[in-house]
Order: sequence, then structure tokens, then C-alpha cells
Amino acid sequence: MNDEDLLEVVHQNLCACALDLSLSKNIEALLKHPRRELHVSIPVMMDDGRIETFQGFRIQYNSARGPTKGGIRFHPAETANTIRGLAAIMTWKCALHDLPLGGAKGGVVCNPKTMSERELENLSRAYVRAVADFIGPDRDIPAPDVYTNEQIMAWMMDEYSAITGTTTFGVVTGKPVVLGGSEGRHDATARGGWIAIREAAKETGLDLAGATVAIQGYGNVGSNAAICGADLYGCSIVAVSDSKGGIHHPEGLDPHAVMAHKEETGSVVGFAGATEITNEELVELDVDILIPAALENVITEKNAERVRARIIAEFANGPTTKGADMILEPKGVHIIPDFLCNGGGVIVSYFEMVQNFNMDHWSEDEVYRRLDEKMTQAYHKVFESGKGYGVGMRQAAYSVAVERVVQAMIGRGWI
Ligand code: NAD
Repeated sequence: MNDEDLLEVVHQNLCACALDLSLSKNIEALLKHPRRELHVSIPVMMDDGRIETFQGFRIQYNSARGPTKGGIRFHPAETANTIRGLAAIMTWKCALHDLPLGGAKGGVVCNPKTMSERELENLSRAYVRAVADFIGPDRDIPAPDVYTNEQIMAWMMDEYSAITGTTTFGVVTGKPVVLGGSEGRHDATARGGWIAIREAAKETGLDLAGATVAIQGYGNVGSNAAICGADLYGCSIVAVSDSKGGIHHPEGLDPHAVMAHKEETGSVVGFAGATEITNEELVELDVDILIPAALENVITEKNAERVRARIIAEFANGPTTKGADMILEPKGVHIIPDFLCNGGGVIVSYFEMVQNFNMDHWSEDEVYRRLDEKMTQAYHKVFESGKGYGVGMRQAAYSVAVERVVQAMIGRGWI
């Protein structure tokens, strides 16, 4: 799946917007590299008494606008270059949504599916011990991402608190609500993505009631995307998938029942009454809205011509390559780019930080109201900028975000 380097895709998008912004070559070069990287080896005691050593990373891309922020992935195919690309995307995401934060990302090369709960806890705590000097509530704040969750965040917060000797809720976000987590964080990415789709539907004249939707990935983001789409907007979720394969039902699937089936069997595959399809077939289905919500580089030059969706809402980071953009945009596909579309997660993470700093707790309604305001503002800022520059949504999003980062770098005297 990751046959194209995500960092290279980020560089190509940066070059395109550098022209719109008339950035000097020096500034462009500076923006192409992370400011700081930490690579660690993490020894972990496994259940059978062996010590296994895992490779981990924490990469802080740019902190001009504030402390860096970004998720941690536990994935067997993780690479430093993917993490660099994701850290860059976090930088643009925080800037686009006008949060006082920079961008970072972390990862550990491991396969959580083959690890016991105790081994995962040992690894999560050991990772924090390895990066403790590098992170902190006013330095760099991790969050959940692929194959990490609120329990892992709780262990990480607890380990960091043990190291510093003070309960430090603000060191990570995406925690359980009983441990300083925010209401509304669990589905914030999906809910925020649907706010962007709602605005895109208005602009493109698509009636969301009954609109057909295919979703790749049925983890935190994908499953909540299916539930929000069906329950809040009346859409028909006709196909979903996970790493084991996909399912299709032209009359629509019940996302709650699919969730229960996945919890019981470990996959969406085998859901009663649905036809099995591959992940590749799902991307090419004739639907109104396609939601990639798994990994990067799934829509490429190889399949873009066959993509039939009217709107592609990128809930995943980096699902579409530059080559694919160049095929999709002339076809009139409305792309809601990743760091615009999936910004709901970091927006509510930022709300969690604000609540932690103030020892406060907001209601779910308050969180959703503020999320709606931020997502709607960002969508229209990008849409209007695109019209202004005469470019597509992705290039417009890059231009808005990169300009804000550059202004902060100039203001700080870095360039
Ligand atoms: P997750 O681990 O909860 O779920 C990942 C899903 O992808 C699982 O259903 C898994 O089976 C599926 N998957 C893995 N490999 C696949 C493959 N080869 N083909 C099809 N499906 C595959 O992760 P998540 O938190 O839902 O994150 C999904 C995407 O959303 C990632 O790109 C992540 O960076 C992005 N994202 C997540 C958040 C968040 O708040 N969790 C915020 C912003 C962006």
C-alpha cells in the first residue's frame, strides 16, 4: 500500500503552493525538513520472558506556531519517512485550523495485533521513558493514531506523570474522559470530517439524505464515519472495509450492526447479507462520497481514472498521491484534502489541552458546537482561497496553512 513515499508527496504539494505564495527557495527548502528527530530502541519484556527490542520515532516537524502536536502509530510497516510526512501534515493541519500548535508525529515498528495487553502496556510505557525528555504539555503532545487508543494514552500519561512526579494530564490527548480526556474526542475526527462534507455538499449541490458512501478502514475513524454519516446525515453506507477485506450492500449497511460484527469476529468481512469485495474494488465503486479512512497512498495514478465518487473526503492522512490528484481534479471530483477533512481530531485534542490547562471540563454539546465552528470556518477559508488562486482544494489548503507557518517563522526571526 505504501509504495509511494508520503514525504515525497508532501514535498510535491509544498512546491506547488510555494509558487502561489512566491516563497523563496530558502524558505521552501527549510519547510521540506523536520526540525528535530528522535530515533529510539525500546527494549520490552514479553510474556514469555524474552526481551524484544522495538524501533521507535518521535519527529517534530515545525514548532513556529507553538508546541508540536501529533499522533503515535503502532504499525509493523512504520518507517521514519512516513512519520516525517505525517509530521509535516500535522504542521499544516494545526496551522489551517488556526490552532496555536506546530506539527509532530511518532511511531513504533510493532504489530499490536500479535501482542498481549500486558506487552502493549510495557511497550507504551517504555516508549514514553525513551522520549520523555523530548515531549511535554508545553513542548510536544502525542495523541492516538493507527493502532493506538485511549487506553494506550492513559498508560503513557501515567508513565510520564511517574517520571515527572506530578499528574500531568496535558502530556497526551485522546485520554479516557475519567483521566482528563475531553467529551466528544472519540468521534471528533469523523464528526469533523462530516462537517466538511456537509459544507462540500452545499457547494456541489449534493443532497446528503440518501447519498451513497463507501468507507475504507473500520477503525476509530472509519467506523465513526459510518455511524455519523448514517445517523446524523441520513446517508446510505453501501460499502466498508478493513485490512482483511471489504463488504458491499447496494441498499445500505447498518453501521452499528457492522461494528458489533467486527467486535465479535475481528473484521467487517463475513457480515450477513453483504457481498465481499476487495479494498481495491471499494475505492472504484460508483458512489457519491468516497471516504478513505485507513492508510496512505490508496488512490494513485494506477486507479484514479476508475474512481467514480463525486466527493472524496480524506479522513485518512495522505490517501491520495499527487499523480492521482492530477487525474481526479480535471474530472471534477471534489477532494476535501486530509489536513482539512480530518482536522476534527486535533481540534478536539486542542480543546482537551485547554481543559487540562484550566482544570476544566466542557459538556459534549459545547465541544461539538466549537468543533462545528472551527471546521466550517476552515472549509470555507480553503474553498474561497481555491477560487482566489484558481487552484484545487488541496493546493488551496497548502497555501493557507504554509503561509501561516511562514508568517510565524518570519515573526520569530527564523528566516
Ligand atoms: P485505527 O487503527 O483505529 O483503524 C485503522 C483501520 O484501517 C482499521 O480498520 C484497519 O483494519 C484498517 N486498515 C489497516 N490496513 C489496511 C489496509 N491495507 N487496507 C484497508 N484497511 C486497512 O486508526 P484510525 O485512528 O482510525 O486512523 C485511520 C486514519 O485516520 C489514519 O490515516 C490516521 O492517520 C487518520 N487520522 C486519525 C485520527 C484519529 O483521531 N484517530 C485523526 C486524524 C487522522
